[in-house]
Amino acid sequence: MPNVSILIPLALPGPYDYAVPLHMAVAPGSIVRVPLGSRQVYGVVWGEAEGDAPAHKIKPIIALCDVPPLAEELRQFVDWVANYVMAPPGAVLRQVMRVPQAFAPPKPLSVLAPGAPPEKMTAARRRVYEALAERGAMAASELARAAGVSASVVKTLAQGGYLTAHEMPGDKHFPHPDATHQRLDLSAQQKAVADSLAESVMAQGFTPHLLDGVTGAGKTEVYFEAIAAALEADKKALILLPEIALTGQFLERFEARFGCPPALWHSGLTAAERRRTWREIAENRVEVLVGARSALFLPWRDLGVIIVDEEHDGGFKQEDGVIYNARDMAVVRSRLAACPVILSTATPSLESYVNARDGRYVAHRLTARHGAALLPEIELVDMRAAPPPQGAWLVPQMVAQVGAAIDRDEQALLFLNRRGYAPLTLCRACGHRYACPACDAWMVEHRFRKQLQCHHCGHMEPVPQNCHSCGEADKLAACGPGVERITEEIIGHFPEARTIVLSSDMGGVAAQREAIQRIGAGEADIIVGTQIIAKGHDFAKLSFVGVVDADLGIGNGDLRAAERTYQLLSQVAGRAGRRAERQGFAMLQSHSPEHPVLQALVSGDRDSFFEREIAARQLAEMPPFGRLAALIVSATNPQEGLAFVRQMAAKMPPHKEIRVLGPAPAPMARIRNRYRYRFLLKASRQAPLQGYIASWLKPFKPRGSVRLSVDIDPYNFL
Ligand code: ADP
Ligand code: ZN
Repeated sequence: MPNVSILIPLALPGPYDYAVPLHMAVAPGSIVRVPLGSRQVYGVVWGEAEGDAPAHKIKPIIALCDVPPLAEELRQFVDWVANYVMAPPGAVLRQVMRVPQAFAPPKPLSVLAPGAPPEKMTAARRRVYEALAERGAMAASELARAAGVSASVVKTLAQGGYLTAHEMPGDKHFPHPDATHQRLDLSAQQKAVADSLAESVMAQGFTPHLLDGVTGAGKTEVYFEAIAAALEADKKALILLPEIALTGQFLERFEARFGCPPALWHSGLTAAERRRTWREIAENRVEVLVGARSALFLPWRDLGVIIVDEEHDGGFKQEDGVIYNARDMAVVRSRLAACPVILSTATPSLESYVNARDGRYVAHRLTARHGAALLPEIELVDMRAAPPPQGAWLVPQMVAQVGAAIDRDEQALLFLNRRGYAPLTLCRACGHRYACPACDAWMVEHRFRKQLQCHHCGHMEPVPQNCHSCGEADKLAACGPGVERITEEIIGHFPEARTIVLSSDMGGVAAQREAIQRIGAGEADIIVGTQIIAKGHDFAKLSFVGVVDADLGIGNGDLRAAERTYQLLSQVAGRAGRRAERQGFAMLQSHSPEHPVLQALVSGDRDSFFEREIAARQLAEMPPFGRLAALIVSATNPQEGLAFVRQMAAKMPPHKEIRVLGPAPAPMARIRNRYRYRFLLKASRQAPLQGYIASWLKPFKPRGSVRLSVDIDPYNFL
């Protein structure tokens, strides 16, 4: 056996050669243990050796792991992503190799099976036997959970010999979703799209689809049919969701359709769940998984379809470590797996919209809400003409609409995409403004927690009594509203109503999930929320949506400000009136109601708005008609950072299709005490952007406190 090259999941320049010991049957993709300096690390056989050193000169592989080799398409994906985002391939491989506990076969599992039942049968004990009859042998802890009894009930039964212990090899497998479990009656329009998607899945081969349907059109039900087709073809399905931890409702619908829940992949899994899930996928036994963006890097073998739900969502962009856009990489992953990919949304990203318009993606439209439900009516309130009363943020009409919804026994949602109580705190005596000591950002007051917090680095301090600057007591003023302040105001109007606040810093994910469940169950009258409330949730009783500040975000001045605001507001408004019994209504407070984004929302003429945006982007050769990349240099020592960007600027190669803007201090010039400088590269579509960056950066090794990161197709312009 010749030497092989092995890629190690670390940010090294490339694979290293190792010798294969006699009798060790490695194949491309095999996971192995190798020496690296004085350490032992995992690695993956990547290909033939690159050097020509004789075998005795290079170090041998230590061990071959007992796990199926990584498929060729996954290895190609790692190389492709590394090339595209300009990250070391080992750093990308690390996304695959995050769960080393899964590289060895699972330990045998000790499970309990029913024995002769005891004479004394309590209700709890009966439930234990019922759970076993229904689901088969289980580990003690799982059995207690399944039966809804305390651990001691199970333990006593086991000790009395009424349950018998067995060793079961390996992990418990995930249940099998049943393609035919419960088909819904689809409308003619839904059926046409579902059939076409299912056909594409059955035909196999790479085909990108854009499923573009209004909120409440039943996109989920439609793409479920593509999943059913994959199951019938004995292929696997992967669904990417932007807020996977908050999707209890989605899981219920999946279970209703397929008879069991899907496998999950997100940051909230326990280490044990993570290990089991990775291993089961490596063994090709997971049929449908719903996951966050990193699920793209799981060791899939037989992908039959990938679905990206809410494809426009900025949350698909991973902003640290390996910087990539999971929506775009899902398309690449499908191409390498030779399967269709379905991008689903009510408000496509401009990129996907153009791809569909120009025929690169197959376009499917769902133009009506399911059943008799209508899209919400949208009304703009001109805040210049009729501002809210002094000290308030809600105009009287808005408050009246909330009251009317409560009177009808329906729900009202007030939306403001700003956490906390107030975005700025200042001293009325001396004018001092509270800023983060580590970032160029104001401290945000969180009144429920009695803290000031920086939303960029998380720095917190108690709300001071006396001004830090002039020492005056009780002179601090909160400027502007956040969700907490709106909550305070609305509770003042409706003290009897049940009000729930929902934002990402209200308790952990579990608390948020519970709040969403309670809202869905009708246990709230008023919901005040940030963007986490905007996504995908289906609240049957919600009929009124009030947007506190529709201008927020439009003025950001970045490339996608208008597009994003449109997406967010139409998603939020789309929460209203999703059932035929309730016509939805949305009211938007604005200081610039003539703005095209807001006009497009009111008129419902999305496509004209998109066409205008497209024309503007085309003229400016901005994405998707040109390409962008950002080079961010940061340093704790600003002189060091500045010297580095100056050297870079001096060596900037000329190119007729690539323009470099900068270096300039980044718009957020300091985050976590790091000073930041930015180059923005603007290139034509054909220009060899990555090659250009690679040759420019080649001589530069960041030293001292300097760090350099490359962001291809940036979304974040801070
Ligand atoms: P979207 O994802 O397009 O916003 P959903 O898939 O969430 O829409 O569907 C909206 C609601 O309508 C859900 O409660 C869904 O179960 C229901 N629904 C959609 N299509 C059907 C159908 N054909 N039969 C029954 N209910 C449907
Ligand atoms: Zn900070």
